[in-house]
Amino acid sequence: MKIFSKIKLIRTHIEYECAGKTIALVPTMGAIHEGHLSLIKIAKKKADIVAVSIFVNPKQFNNIEDFKKYPQTLKSDKQKLADAGVDILFIPDVREIYPQDCLVMVKLEKLTENLCGKTRPGHFEGVALIIIKLFNIIKPDLAIFGEKDFQQLQIIRKLTEDLNINTKIIGANTIREKSGLALSSRNLRLDKKSRKIAPGIYQILKQIREKLLKDNNYSIKLIIDEAKKELIKAGFERVDYLEICTENDLQPIKKFDPKIKSRIFIAVYLNQIRLIDNVKI
Ligand code: AMP
Repeated sequence: MKIFSKIKLIRTHIEYECAGKTIALVPTMGAIHEGHLSLIKIAKKKADIVAVSIFVNPKQFNNIEDFKKYPQTLKSDKQKLADAGVDILFIPDVREIYPQDCLVMVKLEKLTENLCGKTRPGHFEGVALIIIKLFNIIKPDLAIFGEKDFQQLQIIRKLTEDLNINTKIIGANTIREKSGLALSSRNLRLDKKSRKIAPGIYQILKQIREKLLKDNNYSIKLIIDEAKKELIKAGFERVDYLEICTENDLQPIKKFDPKIKSRIFIAVYLNQIRLIDNVKI
């Protein structure tokens, strides 16, 4: 595995050593887990060269504490990625990615109106900026993103379409622990007590899905209100959002219609750590 931190060097490597080969990119913020590795497996099947980036992107954190406390496990990350057969690892320097005179900001509409876009202002604009930069540096033929961050996946799909970026976006299933808890780098920050409570996120999502599939006349407002109460009773600190939205445009629905693809989305705080998840209905 070749490791680069300088933009110029990775560009030269890609231009001369990867000419004529297809490249798949898996962007990450590190603290590599089985969720990330599942994206790499897909990338390996679909492309000649697999590139992974590790960059804890300051522009997508609207909470400085969350940024400072983001888990960093670079040494074991490198080992895991090399073992997974990654060809190129890009760990850029923040000063090179965002020189002080960087004037560009991305503005997004509609898909950012709800869910994380609503409660983390500026988050997806930061995500969009780093993804555009990574795509311009690495020029991947395809890039893999997890459905765990479903809103992010949809925004990146639309972004590449709107900007005519020639990179195919592929979505991948969410990988979970046996308990049902979606794997996340932030899980590393959960203490013993919170780890026992956290699987309640997936349990409640499944419960809501079952209720809706059994009877689609169920009042969505009632289901959501009940579920929020249950989450607080189970020990969660705060429910940031719990909503049922269409997959396409991420707009909340008032009544479940099995003909329209929709998902249940959740973000909760547990011991000051924000966890998100979603399931398809
Ligand atoms: P992150 O390092 O959290 O920014 O995630 C990097 C990529 O891995 C994103 O495309 C995420 O959606 C994806 N990802 C994170 N957790 C999971 C998971 N449990 N299953 C599948 N993909 C995931």
